[in-house]
Amino acid sequence: MTLVLGTRNVHKTHEICACLGEGYQFRTLLDFPDAPRVSEDQPTFAGNAAKKAAALAAWLLGRAGDGKSGGMLVLADDSGLEVDALGGAPGVHSARFAALDRGGDGNSTDADNNAKLLGLLSGLPPELRTARFRCVVAVAEVSFGIACRATRDASEPGPCLPAPRLFEGTCEGRILDEPRGCSGFGYDPLFLPDGHTQTFAELGEEIKNRISHRARALASLRLWLENRGKE
Ligand code: IMP
Repeated sequence: MTLVLGTRNVHKTHEICACLGEGYQFRTLLDFPDAPRVSEDQPTFAGNAAKKAAALAAWLLGRAGDGKSGGMLVLADDSGLEVDALGGAPGVHSARFAALDRGGDGNSTDADNNAKLLGLLSGLPPELRTARFRCVVAVAEVSFGIACRATRDASEPGPCLPAPRLFEGTCEGRILDEPRGCSGFGYDPLFLPDGHTQTFAELGEEIKNRISHRARALASLRLWLENRGKE
């Protein structure tokens, strides 16, 4: 079975391959340089993940005439941080949290995002600094039997293509009042996962990849793939 990962991010690719295990042929968007860039403009992680997976599946189906694109599964994910005291922000805006203030549409640096978050939570006691990382992985099937889908609007699953299947994972914790640690990326240095005394950035990749929101979403996807293989 070929799994097409809807990402150009090498770090993410390694993490997904490690979590899903052997037995799959992995391809990424680096193998499909012409693949469309899908804007993540939906209000939920599930909406963005599903939109990306459906759009990529429709695009792959459009080139199914090449005889190589049928019988694949497309995986796309979206993730971010939800802070309770901020009503769930930055949420789907996690990558561009600081840039929102400048009206820019690009992503912000991790340092800017973390500084903005610390500023907004300044003076808040630990018990009110609860937060979670959330990840949703969407899986869409690319099958010759649903060729009519290729001509439809890729962002809205139509009757010809089943809506992508969704797998979700969360990791609960809280936001510290200063950064700690230097591994990982994004909000890792500020996030203290429940049951641990070290931040994601202090725990290091191996432990983070066992307890993270993405690891949990991928673990349920892995179960589904294994059961699907037995059908
Ligand atoms: P994406 O799903 O890779 O687009 O992630 C969106 C943003 O959420 C990232 O740019 C980070 O700011 C944040 N984020 C997602 N996952 C993590 C994580 O594991 N650690 C730290 N930040 C994360």
